[in-house]
Formats: sequence, structure tokens, C-alpha cells
Amino acid sequence: MKHFLFFLFLFVPVFTGLGQEHPDALLKQLNLQQWRDFVPSQAGDMYDVKHYELNLNVDPNVREISGTVTTSFQMLTEGNSVGFDLYRNMIIDSIYYAGQKLSSYTFAEDIINIHLPATLAQGDFGKIAISYHGAPQYEGFEAFSVDTHSKNKILWTLSQPYGAYTWWPCKQTLTDKADSIDVVVTVPNRDNRVASNGVLVETLETEDFITYHWKHKHPVATYLIAIAVTNYLELRTQVDIPGQNPIPVIDYAYPEELQAWSMDQRYVKQAMQFLSERFILYPFADEKYGHARFPYMGGMEHQTMSFMYNLGESLVVHELAHQWFGDYITCGSWHDIWLNEGFAMYCEGLYREHYSPTTFRGWRLEYLSSVTGSPGGSVYRYDISDVNAIFDSRLTYYKGTLVLHTLRKQVGDEAFFNGIRSYLQDPDLTGGFAQTENLRQHIEQAADTSLIEFFDDWIYREGYPSYTIGWQPGDTKSRIKISQVTSHPSVDFFKLKVPIRFTGAAKDTIVWVPNTENGQIFEIDLGFRPTQVECDPNFELITRNNKVVAETIVTGMNNPAGKKVEIYPNPSPTGNIHIHSLQEIKQIEVYTLDGKRIGQTDAPAKETDIQLNTGNYLVKISFYDNTNYTEKLIVK
Ligand SMILES: [Zn+2]
Repeated sequence: MKHFLFFLFLFVPVFTGLGQEHPDALLKQLNLQQWRDFVPSQAGDMYDVKHYELNLNVDPNVREISGTVTTSFQMLTEGNSVGFDLYRNMIIDSIYYAGQKLSSYTFAEDIINIHLPATLAQGDFGKIAISYHGAPQYEGFEAFSVDTHSKNKILWTLSQPYGAYTWWPCKQTLTDKADSIDVVVTVPNRDNRVASNGVLVETLETEDFITYHWKHKHPVATYLIAIAVTNYLELRTQVDIPGQNPIPVIDYAYPEELQAWSMDQRYVKQAMQFLSERFILYPFADEKYGHARFPYMGGMEHQTMSFMYNLGESLVVHELAHQWFGDYITCGSWHDIWLNEGFAMYCEGLYREHYSPTTFRGWRLEYLSSVTGSPGGSVYRYDISDVNAIFDSRLTYYKGTLVLHTLRKQVGDEAFFNGIRSYLQDPDLTGGFAQTENLRQHIEQAADTSLIEFFDDWIYREGYPSYTIGWQPGDTKSRIKISQVTSHPSVDFFKLKVPIRFTGAAKDTIVWVPNTENGQIFEIDLGFRPTQVECDPNFELITRNNKVVAETIVTGMNNPAGKKVEIYPNPSPTGNIHIHSLQEIKQIEVYTLDGKRIGQTDAPAKETDIQLNTGNYLVKISFYDNTNYTEKLIVK
């Protein structure tokens, strides 16, 4: 989902000022606070949901609901009871099991616990129909709400993250998707249309009422099931993708905005083609995609039918991208919400990179400024007690997005996109749930490298590095020394390839230096004389306050014997000494200062580590051309 922060800041005072227009605005804000300690229930842990049929009666003039929800399930364990989540203020009218009315249930603490007439074995199927009614409690992003547009009433739902159980009895969890759903909604027959998931298979009209029957045959998470009802006008179009059947696009617009919506349908075509080509075909191509206008300032990626404040280009791309990242594969816990939001937002960036590439750098800078505006905070949401903790703009969205970009730059485009395509085709995840580790494994496999440290530093821990680049101007060779401090103590060093730009009179180039330790020295043969050096000039990493300082960098490369070798760090704080040579080494010998030889390595690699205890030493490096180089070494 996405909310417009900028607009919210502008409009919140206006909302409270116009109390009559939005009598619930303040009440809704207050209610958010009551939900800080929400803990998902385990009500439905004993069964696997196969199918939900929501048979609902609503009227956009009234914030109330009545209906029957029929759940088909398969037992995961032997048992004689099943549970459902439903908020405590709902009134249960009846419960039926296999055609038989049951009175043996309890309804307390937001859980209906139903005692079945007989024990079911593991693997047995069952079906429960719960009839209920009431005025749903506000939750999260309101969950179930009524508003006005041009004097017309609209009723809409937005259940993410914990709101579904306020308006229908369900298994509100991120561990189980229904395999398919039917959403059958009866509304007063006064120009009302109902928008929902999947395909509209039937409408039944009487003089007073009209019933819309939507059917969706793909696995769907509970929070992605939604309805919106008002005097919508329908706009149909389609997306053509070479080699595929056309994908129907069905938009439900406010009549007063019909023309603008019709114009803006061009964005979804372009976005659908782009995302299908970049990743995999739109996952619900056999049904439809669509947008339904709603009054919440932002968008929500209800499966196959996003609810939208407008059809702005970025919002269209964002909510459409969620159909892959969020709907087809859903975050497996609210801790992992960045798998939904980081990706949806990064798709906005990728779309921009493709269609207006010159704006992509500025787009990153905008979010980079926010991300690095505070020193800490993790992308992984440890606190998931309320919507503000889960949907943190700076961390869940912006940092999640920029971490994806950083990751792409570390492993390269081919591995990055191959890894994501493989993630989107993993049968253990598609139509189901993923956690951060699932994504890591797919990109690791594609890149053939371990990303444990990267994910640890960037997703689970906090902060970012600030670089100091020591630069010794030379002729065509530049020597740089790269050091970093981190903004947050949870990470002491970010291991990254760092882009350094060297600019000369007529030429410039960016060199990515693999920065694996502090004080690392690189000698770079540019072939031209640079006059300026910059660190991360195009905002490819998450860094801030980088600086370049003129510095005389003394290394073994410049030692009196003229050998192409360096020994560092010297002095060494840990005793771990790295030897880096540009020519084959014949022998390394270590002496005490009084000339006693204490160690020797024959024919080591050009990159070698040696370990020494505290003390002062002489290290002698001999080469095959019978020259050698000796350096005094201090281990503190
Ligand atoms: Zn989103």
C-alpha cells in the first residue's frame, strides 16, 4: 500500500477543522492508539483454508455489515474444534456445519471457537458458515469505512494489516492463503456497483437490490480481499503483451472523474508491459487487473483490483508492482513487510529508469536524504504492534528500496534480476508467503556469493557508512585510501564495492573499489591525470557526509626498493597483517629486531595474511628476480 505523506500533512489540520465534513477523523486517529499491542491470534492454526465465500449485505449510506461467510477447510491435525478471528463487537446470528446448526461455540477475546459434532481426522475436509452482523470497529487504516464523494456515499475496506477480522470472520494470518474465493455482495439498487477481487461472474438485480458476484481462482491472503461500493462507472481496456492473451483492465471510476481516469489508463498499460517483461508475466493475467477509486489518500494493492486515490503514474506502478511483490508472493510476517513495500517502490524507480532515465538519480537522492536523515533504524520491522511501526516510510519503504538498489550494484544487474525472477518462480513461495531469507537465498544463488553479511548489515541492523577518501594526486596513477565510520553501533563496518569517480581535464571514469577493511589503499591506473575525486557521485549506495581529502599515501608500492608490494596495516592493531604484491613472491620471512628469524613462508600467494603477536618485527619479502624488500612492522 501507499499513503501520500505530503498530502496528509497538508490536510490533517483541515480535516479536524471541518469536523462536520469528516466527523470520524479524530475518532479514527484516537482508535489507532488502542491497537499498539495487537498480537495475531492462532485461532485457525488447526486447519488450512481452502475457500472463502463472503456473502455480504452492505449499504454505503450506513457503516454496517451483515452476511454469511462460509469457509471450506482441511484439518492439519486431528481435532473437534475450529477457530476464527472476529472482532468482539460483531453479533453472531448463526453457525452451521455441514448443514447442521450448531450452538456449541464460544465467542470471546475476538475468537470464535466452534466445537464440531464429531472429531475430524487430519486431512478431513469441513465447511463452516457463520452468519453475523454489526458496525465494524475502526482498525489500522480504518479497515471498513464510509465516506462521501460529490454528495454520493462510498463504502470501502482496507484490511492491511490487522483489519479483516473487524468486518468478516476469517483466519487473519500470514501463514495461510485461501486457494480461491467468492465475494458476493448485495447492495441497494441505486446505481451502486461493487468492486472486488477476480472476475465478475454474475449480477442479479431486483427492484430494490443488486448483487455482484466476484470469483477469484488464485490463492489470496486474507488482508488482500476487499470490497468498495459506490455509484462507480466502469471503464474497460486491455493490455497487449506479445505472445499472451490480452489482459483485461477494469477500472471503477467516480462519474465526476470519468474523463481523467480514462486518460490515465495509459499508465497501467505501459507499467503492465514493463513489469511483465522485466520480471514474469502479470500473475493474474487469466482474470484481470483493475483500479477502484476510493477516498483514502494513497493506494492499496487488493489482489487484481487495487483501490486508488488517483491514477497518478507512480501510484499506478506501485500498486501494480504489488501484484507480484505482496500479492502473488506475500510477506510471510509483518516483520518482512519490506519485501512488499521495498520492491513496489523500487519498481517505481525501475520504471523511471526505463522511461525517463535522467530522473532516476534524483529520485534516489530524494529518498537517500530521508534515509540518512537519522542515524539508525532497521528495514526489518522488529516492532509490528501497529501500522505506524510496520509502515515506516523512511525504513520500510525508502531504505528497503535503496537497499535493493545497493544490492543490485553489488551483485550486478544480471545476477540481481535473475535472482528476483527465480524468487518469483519458486513454487514454495508463489501463491504463498516469503520471508527475507527466501529472497537472500535466491539472489545468492544467482550471484554465486554469500549475502549473509549484506543482509545482516542492511536489513536486520541499522545505519549506513560515511566515507573518507584520502587521495594522493599523481600522474596517471591515483592512490586512494578509503576509510568509513558508521552511523549506528549495530554495524562496525559495511563491506561494499564503493564507486569513486575520477575526473580529469577531458575525461572521467568511475572505479568500483572493493572496500573490505578500514584504511584500505588502492592504486588505480587511470591512463589520465585526474583533477577531482568524488565518492559515490551518483547515489548508488546508502551513504552520507562522504569527503575526499588530499593525503600523502605511503604504501609498500612506493617503498625505497621500488617493489610492487605493500604490507598493511602498519602499525597493526590486531596482529593480522595483509601482504599485497603485484609480482610473485618467492619467500616471506619475519625477524625480530635483533635479527632472529621467527617465521617463514615459501611461495605464498600474491595476497597473503600473516598473524603476529604484539611486538616489533622486520618483514622481508624476497622475489624471484633476487631482489627483496624489508619493512619494520609494529603490532600494538
Ligand atoms: Zn505499497
